Order: sequence, then structure tokens, then C-alpha cells
Amino acid sequence: MGESGEKLKQDTKRFVKSIFSRYYSKIARKFIEEPTRIASREFGFNLFDKGIVRHLSFRTKDELIEYLRRNNPSDCYYSSALYINPTASMDAKGWMGAELIFDIDADHIPTNCKVEHDRWLCLSCGCEGVGEAPDKCPNCGGDKLEQRVWFCEGCLIAAKREAMKLLDILSSDFGIREDTVNIYFSGHRGFHIHVSGEVEGLDQNARREIADYLLCVGLDPTIYLDRMIISKGVNGAKLRMIRALYDFISSTSIEGFSAIGLGRRGVEAIVNSRDRILEKVLEGEFDGIAREIGVANLRKLIAKVVEYLAVRIDPVVTLDTHRLIRLPGSLHGKTGFIKARVGSSMESLEDYDPLSEAMPFRNSDEQVKLYVHLSPRFRVGEEYFGPFKDEYVYLPLQPALLLLCKGVAYISS
Ligand SMILES: [Zn+2]
Ligand SMILES: [Zn+2]
Repeated sequence: MGESGEKLKQDTKRFVKSIFSRYYSKIARKFIEEPTRIASREFGFNLFDKGIVRHLSFRTKDELIEYLRRNNPSDCYYSSALYINPTASMDAKGWMGAELIFDIDADHIPTNCKVEHDRWLCLSCGCEGVGEAPDKCPNCGGDKLEQRVWFCEGCLIAAKREAMKLLDILSSDFGIREDTVNIYFSGHRGFHIHVSGEVEGLDQNARREIADYLLCVGLDPTIYLDRMIISKGVNGAKLRMIRALYDFISSTSIEGFSAIGLGRRGVEAIVNSRDRILEKVLEGEFDGIAREIGVANLRKLIAKVVEYLAVRIDPVVTLDTHRLIRLPGSLHGKTGFIKARVGSSMESLEDYDPLSEAMPFRNSDEQVKLYVHLSPRFRVGEEYFGPFKDEYVYLPLQPALLLLCKGVAYISS
């Protein structure tokens, strides 16, 4: 990129900054949520010109809003932890507990859409490709590859499905009350779930156990074969296994069963008496199923279904008791969307459409002229935009901001 390219970059950054500034001076107050016990939290920010600043603290929401107005960060974070001295260095802060945080991001969920909308760019030779970046550039062998992730409704639906699974387990297996749960759209490709209350005292080991349970790490599928467990009644984990097994057996083809390694006897038994086997699944009569299809085949089925049972949280986030997490109500620097509150219940999440509700400038009729390098088709509110490739376009402010934040477009005067 030459001198004029550098100017385009600067103009673009200046424009994005001006829009974020508009948000923090005029709009943010009604979206920013004051963390409980705000004075005991550490705050950190990514500033457009100065980079990361952290170890800050605020006594009130007003002080926080004033800071945002003056400093106009591209990203805002606060500590899930409560500290005696939030501004001290890490080892002198005095940890008093931390909310339990779950991060569900399309990054951690295998979806088919990523090859359609994620791209990588070799910073050495300019070579590009789709999907996840390889270790080395196939053209020049360089290892400076930039991953450019996009999101689509498929990503958001997949993330929502995982979040629903999580909420179900938190409530039915851990007994977590709905009024201690806050669900947020992350501002990009997923959802954050914050849990407060008793869980705040859990240490890292306890959090690891929760994460392992959700991810089904070390889950021995044979526990489901134990008649004793079954006769004790159907608990949350068992019920989920039953549902997942039912869905899998009822929707899988002969080839599908063979593909997961089921022997001929098992495949034939399932295909010939699928209804009877499904009935036994519903009754939790696993030993009966084992008699029909063979124990080895049942084990293979269960091992496969465990893949669906796992909730794809990012364990790093859940384990970290000192983490800075995005501030609810602040803008995501990579999208210009709000990290917005969804609610506390599964119903609130079910009905939530981030592409309508987390858009602060959705109703602005301002038109922005852009040069778009590359963008897939996307939706904001009810309207679709793109795809665009190497062209000048006029877009309303919210979709324009998205493309500029994503780094796939330049402002054009
Ligand atoms: Zn290259
Ligand atoms: Zn997608």
C-alpha cells in the first residue's frame, strides 16, 4: 500500500473514531451496565491511538461514562473479579471472588459456513485463501498470515444453540438460579453468560471441573450402560443423552451408522426395528438396546452422541479468575455492534436477534461512501447488503461501520 493507501487508512480510522465518539458521548449511557460493586473492579481499555491501558477503577457509573466520553476507546473491559485494590499490580490486588463467565463464540464451534466467509491473507506476498489460515503461506512459505473472520446468521444460530444447551445445564444440573444469570450478545460471533452469587467464590480447580463437565472431557460413555444408574431415575445428564441418542438414531441413514463404525449386526438391527429401539431409548432401557444391537455397537453410538452433548465453551475464559471481559453496553471494535444484554432466561435468548438489537446506529439514515475490498452478503436489521468486491458503494451508517471496523473497506471522500 503506497502513500495514498496510508492516507485512506488514516481517514478511515478517523471516521470510525468519530462514530465511536458519537456513541460514547450521546448514546452509551442507556446501554452501559454498571458492574455490581463497581469500585472493586479493574477496568481496561483499548484506545485508538494509545493501545491498551488497564488497572483503572471507577467509583460510579458516572465516572466511568465520563472516562468513556473523554477517551473514546475502541474496546472496553472490566474484571469479572472483585479486588480490594483494583488499581494495584496483579499480585497486590487482593482477590475477593469473581463471576463465573462462559464465552460461546462461533470460533469454537465447527460450522460449515466458515469456508464461505472466513478468509486469510498472507502479509508477505498478498496471497489469499478461504477458511482457516494454514500454518504457512502456500505461495511464498511465509508465516505472517492474517485471519479475517466474518460471521453470518449460521454462526449466530450455532452459537445460540450452544448457549441454550449451556443455560439448560446450568439450571438443571448445577441448580443455578435464573436471577443470577445474565446473557449478553458478545458484539461479534457469540454470547457471553455471566453468573453471579455463590459461584463467585469458586477457585480455578472448581471452575475447571465445571468446564470439563460441559465439554464432556473425560466422560466415560460406559456409565450410561450401567443398569444401576438407569434405575435411579432419569437425571439431567441422562435425559440429554436420551434425547441426543433418540435424535441420532431416528435421523441417521444406513451409511451414517456404518460411517461411525457400527458392525453389520448393529446396522441391520437398527434399520429393521428402529421404532422398537427408539422406544427403549425413550425409556432409558440401555441394557435392552444393548441386547438388540450388541454392547460394542451401543458404545460406538454413545461415543458419537457425546460429541453433540458437549457445550462448546471457551474453557480459557471460564478458568481465568482474573479475566478482563468486555463491558456490557460498550462497542466491539471489530464490528461497531454493542455487547448487548439479552436477558436471563432461555426464552429471552430464543427470541433475540443480535443483528437488529445490538445496532446503535441502525436507524440512522446517514449514507457513507466506501470503497469495499471484499465483503460477503450480510444483514443488518431487516435489510441485506452485499456481497461486494472491489467497488464503491453508498451504505447506511451501521453496515458501513461494520465494514470499516472489519478492515475490509475504506472511507471514500
Ligand atoms: Zn505469501
Ligand atoms: Zn457463519
